[in-house]
Amino acid sequence: MSDQAAHPLALEGTPSPTPSVATDGTWLECIECGETFAPFSAIRYTCDDCTGLLEVRYADPPGFDAFSGTGVWRYRDALPLERGVSAQEGDTPLYRVPRLEAEIGVEALRIKHEGMNPTGSFKDRGMTVGVAVARELGVDRLACASTGNTSAALAAYGSRGGMETLVLLPAGKVAAGKIAQASLHGARILEVDGNFDTCLDIVQDLAARGAVYLLNSLNPFRLEGQKTIGFEILETFDREYGAWPDRIVLPVGNAGNTSALYKAFRELVEAGHLEPADVPKLTGVQAEGAAPMVEAVENGTNAVRRWDEVETRATAIRIGNPVNAPKALPGIRETGGTAVAVSDEAITDAQRDLATEGIGVEPASAASVAGLRALRERGIVGDDERVACLTTGHLLKDPEAAAAAGSDPEPVPGDTEGVLAALEE
Ligand SMILES: *Cc1c(COP(=O)(O)O)cnc(C)c1O
Ligand SMILES: [Zn+2]
Repeated sequence: MSDQAAHPLALEGTPSPTPSVATDGTWLECIECGETFAPFSAIRYTCDDCTGLLEVRYADPPGFDAFSGTGVWRYRDALPLERGVSAQEGDTPLYRVPRLEAEIGVEALRIKHEGMNPTGSFKDRGMTVGVAVARELGVDRLACASTGNTSAALAAYGSRGGMETLVLLPAGKVAAGKIAQASLHGARILEVDGNFDTCLDIVQDLAARGAVYLLNSLNPFRLEGQKTIGFEILETFDREYGAWPDRIVLPVGNAGNTSALYKAFRELVEAGHLEPADVPKLTGVQAEGAAPMVEAVENGTNAVRRWDEVETRATAIRIGNPVNAPKALPGIRETGGTAVAVSDEAITDAQRDLATEGIGVEPASAASVAGLRALRERGIVGDDERVACLTTGHLLKDPEAAAAAGSDPEPVPGDTEGVLAALEE
């Protein structure tokens, strides 16, 4: 991706060969070498100089008093654009779960249900920004590799923005609801003979060759939209509880959300609206069969080993090579958080627990609650903590997993007597 000027998807006009800071106070910055780039001058996903990850930076990040309106765009002052390709994403519920709170044994437990976004996952928050940036850049074919939810969000937001969408999915490993969404919203769906990480390798190559515009979480603009989860949790927790959460527990796949939440908190600290000591401890949860981030945190290393073989029924986090690890690992460490792996059985138990509180989530989402339970049992999470668990996707995303975790329908005769007889059994 170093030959920016020759990129066939670039806007007309020559991108500036020497990186320069944008005049409007927004720029892209390499997290490894600190090189800066104007945000919309050319298509780039990583640093021209060292291939490090890029992040969007603002000269003057806003505090809470700058936020007004609803949804993701309530936070427009903290975003790289004034408005997006929107379907009213964000403003998701922060549910009370009194039984689960008492049973797990923490001072306060809230569930931030990101499955209540328009396409049923938090990916919508990233896409409302990412697709708008794509339009700004003048590209017309958007693509992603996906364990399912990114493809659903890309298909919906891409078509809303009038653009062509292409999604690469690991064959046989994507939940039915997600494929149905990508399909109906008109994405071209390629089922790849390989896992998610292979799909991402391919789509990165396609993007580097200029065939597509990449909307995976490697794209720094997407993470800006996802950052708003952090703002919402703090604002709502504060309004309803009179305090901020001590800890946020979330499932980790590519670690985009972990990175995005950390960035939200850093910007609030920079704006003087959050004390460093009040930043919630970011706590990542992975499935035992796909836990490279947990391994890195446990080994105290920044070098994440790529797992070539991954398996879990939480297909949304069936990822062996978390691309945002260099952004997320400092977030986990510097906030005093941790990472933990949970079994598929523990994930399904947590999915059932949430369901008893009326909250329907897909398996990956339940990993947050399973992880909190594990950390509470080990005494790593104290009984005096206020915790927000992120549930990332809706139950209907993966109807097969929900049906397998729930009760079976019972056949009964078509008359009241027969039904009553069956009820007495
Ligand atoms: C994408 C996704 C994740 C993983 O999020 P990352 O930001 O990649 O760590 C977790 N759960 C669900 C339901 C998802 O769709
Ligand atoms: Zn660099």
